[in-house]
This record gives sequence, C-alpha cells and structure tokens, in this order.
Amino acid sequence: MLPSKHNIISGLNDSEDYFIVNLLSGNADIIGQRKYEEFQSGNFTDTDELIEKGYLSDYEHEKHIYTKKYLDFIDNRESDEVQVFFVPWYSCNFACSYCYQDEYQSPPSQITTDIIDAFFIYLGEKLADKRKYITIFGGEPLLTGGLHKEIIRYLISEATLRKIDIALVTNGYNTLNYIDILKLGQIREVQVTLDGTAEVHNKRRFLRDKSATFQQISDGVDALLANHIPVNLRMVIDRENIENLPGLARYARDKGWTSSAYFKTQLGRNYELHHCQKANMKLYSRLELYKDLYGLIKKYPEILDFHKPAFSISKFLFEHGELPDPLFDACPACKTEWAFDYTGAIYPCTATVGKSEERLGTYYPSISMDNKKVCDWEERDVLSIKECANCSLQLACGGGCGSVAKNQHGYVQAPDCRPAKDLMRLGISLYQNL
Ligand code: SF4
Ligand code: SF4
Repeated sequence: MLPSKHNIISGLNDSEDYFIVNLLSGNADIIGQRKYEEFQSGNFTDTDELIEKGYLSDYEHEKHIYTKKYLDFIDNRESDEVQVFFVPWYSCNFACSYCYQDEYQSPPSQITTDIIDAFFIYLGEKLADKRKYITIFGGEPLLTGGLHKEIIRYLISEATLRKIDIALVTNGYNTLNYIDILKLGQIREVQVTLDGTAEVHNKRRFLRDKSATFQQISDGVDALLANHIPVNLRMVIDRENIENLPGLARYARDKGWTSSAYFKTQLGRNYELHHCQKANMKLYSRLELYKDLYGLIKKYPEILDFHKPAFSISKFLFEHGELPDPLFDACPACKTEWAFDYTGAIYPCTATVGKSEERLGTYYPSISMDNKKVCDWEERDVLSIKECANCSLQLACGGGCGSVAKNQHGYVQAPDCRPAKDLMRLGISLYQNL
C-alpha cells in the first residue's frame, strides 16, 4: 500500500494542524504533526483507517476507482443543463475603467428577428434533447431605444414560448426601463454589477459621458427584488476596490437585499483574460485575491453574510458536510456551454465570444461547424492535458479554463493551473472556525 496520488496534504493557515483531502475517495481530515510526518516519511504506524479512507491505496485498485468515477462524471455531464449565451450586440452604454471588450470592433451588421428565429431553429435542431437555458449577454443587452427593447422583448417571448429560462448579464443601469419586459419571461436571474459603494463604484463604472451609475443600478436591484426576479450581484475586485467590500456588504444588508430569498452574490476577479493588462499592478492573481479576502473576512466577518468565497472545495465541504465529486474537467466550453452572437457566429463560451479566431461555425445565414476545433474543446479534461497526469491537485483543479490556457500556451489542451492546495489552506482554516 502506498500513499494515494490524489492526497492533498498541507498545513492549515494560522494553526499547527494539517489537512488531508482525497477527492477520489471522498475523504477529508484534519491531522496533527505526527500523522503529517508519517506521510512525509512513508512509514505508517496504523494503516487500517488510512486504507479505509483511501489515503493509502494500491495502484491497480485506485486506477479502477478512477476509471469508474471518470465514466460517472462523463455520464452526469451528458444529462447536465446547457448554458447558451446569446449576444444581441456588442455595444455598451458604459465606459468602465477596466473593460476588456473595449478592444473589440462591433461588426457593422444589425440584429433582426430573422437572426433570432435562426438561433431558436438551431437550438431546436442541435440541442433538442438537452435541458438548456439562455443567458443574454453583451456588450450591454439592456440599452435604451426602440429597436433594443423590441429585440430583447422578442428574444424573451420566443424563449418563453419554448419554456426556456432566461438569465441576463447586465450592468444594471436600465433595469427599471426593462422591468415590464422581464416580467414576461421565465427569468432565472439577472446578474448586475456593483464594484463597491457609490463613491468607489462611480469611479470605475460610469457612462460614456462619465456620469455616475450607482444609484440607478441600486434602484434597479430594489425593483427586481420587489418583483421577485432573482438578482445575482457581482462585484469585480482588484487591489483598487477590495477594501470597499465590507462597505458594499453593509450597504446590501442595510437595503434588506441579503435577507431576500431572491438575492445572491458573486465576486469576480478582474484579470487579463482578453488583452494584456499584465503590467497593471492593480490586478490580482487568484491566490493573492483569496489571501486578501481571508484577511479581510477575519477582520470583517459580516462579509460572509454578503458572500462566502469558495476557496476551492472548502466552502462546499463545510456547507454540505462532504466533498464535492471529483472534478475531471473545470471547463464547460463546447460541452455544457456555447455562445452565439448576432452576426450568426458560434463560439465555445462566454470568454471567447466575439473573438474571430475562436469562431467555431455559424447558425445564420446557414449552419456550418468546424468539427476539428469543436473536438479539441470537447476532449479537453485532466486526462487529455498531459501536464495534469501526475498532478495531485487534478480532481480539485479540473485543468482550469481552456481559454486562459490557450491564451498562455497557444493551444487548448494546455493547463491553467489553479492554486487549489493553497486555497484549501485558507478556506478550511476559515470555515472550520465559524
Ligand atoms: S474557456 Fe474558460 S471561461 Fe470558457 S467555459 Fe471554459 S472555463 Fe469557462
Ligand atoms: S491544470 Fe495544473 S494544477 Fe490543474 S490539474 Fe493540471 S497540472 Fe494540476
């Protein structure tokens, strides 16, 4: 019997203890110095429990379990719901200080109901047997003006006819103008972004003429919640605004948002997915962000009433009392995610939509698909990325994001390493003491 290659072992933050997590066997424990040293030396005093929990295993047995769980993962994904992004235009009424889409040229063509009809025909033909929902994305989907409103109304009513749920990703500025249209659909959620309280937010997310946007967005959130339309409030974080997180958490609490069943939150990391902001010192790496979040939450625990960060598998473990299933693939592109835009083009996912070199095919005016490119995305997982083969973190990391990997390495079957062990150090320490 040898230590499993899926053991993740590390010291906890602010503690003398260690943790051991094994996502293949589904076990996690806090261990002391003595046990930790046994794993370091490979000499074990009592092996029964370690074998039972899969921390010690023989190679053939572990390989058998791995294959079985991988096949379960693929089976489950087959029946998963598909998220279909639709971009009706790339234009936006904001000029955010950090926008990655500012480099995109909007193709000059304009959306028509024929294009939307073609989109629904494609879904009906190619994704007929899949559960699915549509996320309307941009640019900014909720723009003022007759054409914009008519197109969004048409999209939502056509989806509703087919009993397909809608989600929207919007800056939230025109929510009030769209409430009546939103009430026509099965709206799963509206994602709205506030980057802090008024002063901080207005310095980062403003209209093209530089006017402030905070109050109008906040009023829109009130209106959505009053109409029982679920809100997913996102805060995009970098070094410039992280200190304002407790302030936004208090604002959301004082508005009564955090006590609404229709309210949830997410934190977005501002990072260099599209064009190079690497020289920009205000951006965080994933680990740096979580380190600062850990410190901030220790100081202002009320942040947790607003948002509980995942810290890899840590939040799941403490909320469910068990580990999540092994993650053989973290990237849903071309599997349970696709993106369509108004030019008739199809892309792997939201991070790639609008980039001409990432285009996979078309749904309008005719249907076409580059199957070789699609296969490349479809086949990407921790078994196909050679760097992942001997990585103990593979079932927590899942190989990361295909788009980030491609941007870094030039091809899809490349790793986007996630600091899963260090995130667990922080997260298990944080959540075990709550
Ligand atoms: S490429 Fe990245 S952003 Fe796109 S689906 Fe995969 S993980 Fe998500
Ligand atoms: S992407 Fe990197 S960290 Fe993630 S499983 Fe592969 S090698 Fe390990």
